[in-house]
Amino acid sequence: MTHKSADDNRPVALFPGSFNPFTLGHLSIVERCAPLFSRLVIAVGYNKDKATAEEMANIDERIIKIQKATINMPNVSVQKYSGLTVDEAKTLGATFIVRGVRDVADFEYERRMADVNRAIAGIETLLFFTLPQYSSLSSSMVRELEYFGHDVSQFLP
Ligand code: ADP
Repeated sequence: MTHKSADDNRPVALFPGSFNPFTLGHLSIVERCAPLFSRLVIAVGYNKDKATAEEMANIDERIIKIQKATINMPNVSVQKYSGLTVDEAKTLGATFIVRGVRDVADFEYERRMADVNRAIAGIETLLFFTLPQYSSLSSSMVRELEYFGHDVSQFLP
């Protein structure tokens, strides 16, 4: 984990999501926004009250894969969290939440989330438009292809 050094005045940011799985679309957001921050924490959300032991193992595996995909970015770290995203941001000293936007549906969802998070915690959300080549890429699409036995490696880091 990289800690904020005394002469680094850049803010800390949180990139929360399910990342199930972490796709090239997610990676591209991380690569493009990481230089803005002293530290970018990718946080895999889960529900503490509902997650089974198997799901928890799956989340730990997901974290290892994301760590491998971001190993060349020293200010990026990966962890899991349960609970409100803004609470996790405050715990980490993060003043921004980063999210990605593919289309109008994402935009409307992210706008509402950003409004709520600003209202309850004063935390601003930075939205990054996806690169055109990833605009139709979603974790759910990858999961569905995987379910039917299709090779999904072209969509993953
Ligand atoms: P959540 O369950 O919180 O929506 P996801 O893992 O699906 O978590 O997505 C995390 C963030 O990454 C969201 O802001 C989502 O809009 C964004 N995202 C997902 N896929 C892409 C993509 N292909 N390009 C850019 N951003 C994406």
